[in-house]
Amino acid sequence: MEIKKIGVVGAGTMGNGIAQTAAQIGCQVVMRDVEDRFVEKGISSIEKFLSKSVEKGKLEAKEKDAILGRITGTTDMGKLADVDFVIEAVLEDIELKKKVFKQLDEICRPDVILASNTSSMSLTEIATATKRQDKVCGMHFFNPVPIMKLVEVIKGFYTSDETIATTTALAKKMGKITVEVKKDSPGFIVNRIMIPHMLEAIKIAEEGVATIQDIDLAVKNGLNYPMGPFELMDLTGIDICYYVAEYFYKELNKESKWVSPVLLKNMIRAGRLGRKTKGGWYEYNK
Ligand code: NAD
Repeated sequence: MEIKKIGVVGAGTMGNGIAQTAAQIGCQVVMRDVEDRFVEKGISSIEKFLSKSVEKGKLEAKEKDAILGRITGTTDMGKLADVDFVIEAVLEDIELKKKVFKQLDEICRPDVILASNTSSMSLTEIATATKRQDKVCGMHFFNPVPIMKLVEVIKGFYTSDETIATTTALAKKMGKITVEVKKDSPGFIVNRIMIPHMLEAIKIAEEGVATIQDIDLAVKNGLNYPMGPFELMDLTGIDICYYVAEYFYKELNKESKWVSPVLLKNMIRAGRLGRKTKGGWYEYNK
């Protein structure tokens, strides 16, 4: 079946990026959040992104209008009744995700795939909230969604091969490079690799081995990474690094490598969460 209309649940950082990317390939999109102000913020982020693309000459003004015209923002979950595919991007909270999947299972047609953009959580567990466990999978985009190329497609315990194939095909149509995560495991591929490198960088700084500036410089120029671990944490949120590390510790046999350094906890206690708080490992004056 052709996917013509996509439901996106959550209009935040990831939700609005996913909605935009889906609309850019010609799909109709229904983007749902809990309050009008969140929906409006999501639409305005898309508008800003597209306007910049027009300014840079990457997009025609009429294309921008057409893309925006395909996106409907709503607080009404009922508007997802006729979508062909759903991508959930609400907060990283397993109970909230299960509540949303239960609602989606009741509202959406039985043939519709329900994909989650979770960064780390169990698709097998999320699927238990539905009566269509074979049609639940992970579709993990990266931030910022319209720019970042990768999508991890994750198989839950009961996810069918058909669900993986359809989700992979949709991601490719969105212009993404896909990888298949064959087993439902915390953090999948990228975050399982990213978090230890961040924790190790903090430990090196905590031990006084080098400054954060020099650690970033070393990683960028010695490993050819585009960003250093501290710059990356400031972008993605220092609190996110902590929460994911805690989740890995709990889920991955309490291995000591997942224990958060005191310095990381203190950054969070001090409210220094990165760019979103205008200060993290570095200062931001925006
Ligand atoms: P965000 O806080 O920017 O947005 C989440 C949105 O979900 C908020 O607008 C909130 O109001 C909304 N929401 C809460 N309950 C809802 C409900 N019942 N129905 C509809 N909307 C609801 O968060 P985000 O950064 O966009 O993250 C969303 C998901 O994507 C999380 O699972 C996160 O782990 C994952 N993710 C985030 C990133 C990232 O870099 N930010 C990258 C990949 C994946």
